[in-house]
Amino acid sequence: MSGIIDSHIHLYPPEATADPVRWAKKNKEVYWPSLVLPHAGRRSSQGWVDLDQLLLDMDAAGVEKAVLLGWYWENHETCCCQNRFYEECIRAHPDRLLAFAGVCPASGFKLSLTELEWARDHGFIGIGEMCPYVQGGAFDDESWQAVFRWAEENRFVVNLHVSEPVGRNYPAKVQTPLIDFQNLIEGFPHLKIILAHWGGGLAFYETNWAIRKIFKNVFYDTAASPLIYRRNVFKSGPSASGIEKILYGSDYPLILYPKTETKPGLSRFVEDIRHSGLSEEELSQLFRINAESLFGI
Ligand SMILES: [Zn+2]
Repeated sequence: MSGIIDSHIHLYPPEATADPVRWAKKNKEVYWPSLVLPHAGRRSSQGWVDLDQLLLDMDAAGVEKAVLLGWYWENHETCCCQNRFYEECIRAHPDRLLAFAGVCPASGFKLSLTELEWARDHGFIGIGEMCPYVQGGAFDDESWQAVFRWAEENRFVVNLHVSEPVGRNYPAKVQTPLIDFQNLIEGFPHLKIILAHWGGGLAFYETNWAIRKIFKNVFYDTAASPLIYRRNVFKSGPSASGIEKILYGSDYPLILYPKTETKPGLSRFVEDIRHSGLSEEELSQLFRINAESLFGI
């Protein structure tokens, strides 16, 4: 198999990595520190890396390309700051890195659209990861609708954060009602949407007739799987949705095996998936082919 494509990677500007608390305060980001910093005496699963470390970890795991996803920042300026950083990353390593732009429609959709024009002209290929339940507003607000319309017209892929509505209640778990995603997708039948984290379980609802019909252009990524699901999710997910709708994504530098690992890495998750019972052909689709065709690589 040729190199793997990881569709769900996060990097932060060096200033944010050096001092997340200070950076968040300066940028008036309230939610992000609650997610990435230790909470109520518990160690955070967040790891911190720079661009060089990402490339080393990609090499070690046989990951050829990574899609850098923005974060669901609460302020337009923070999105711009990360987008400028990502632009430097993809310019330095065009053969290894692709980027999605972050936008915050609730900060004013005209600002978001201007930023997206800039992103398109600088080689970005999508928008996300986005989450209105943190960023403010709702999918049916005019500001959010304008961003989705722009994405549809410009053939940008959109990545949306979705949490599972049941299960463990971890710090900063945000409720993302699944019906909201169905309504959004019905309104934008041609927009290519990736629902992160197995779509919070929506991937399993692809056995439902109506969802199957409406979700023609919907894909799912596997980000953070080991923290949420048993390994057999790699059988049950594809069996419900079809393997062609599943993209390998890690959520690096999240530490996916916090009981035994203290540093972020990509190798163990890749190995885990290889032993999940999928055939060689299914593995190539999950690890590479689906992403190649969705992103036009
Ligand atoms: Zn996410």
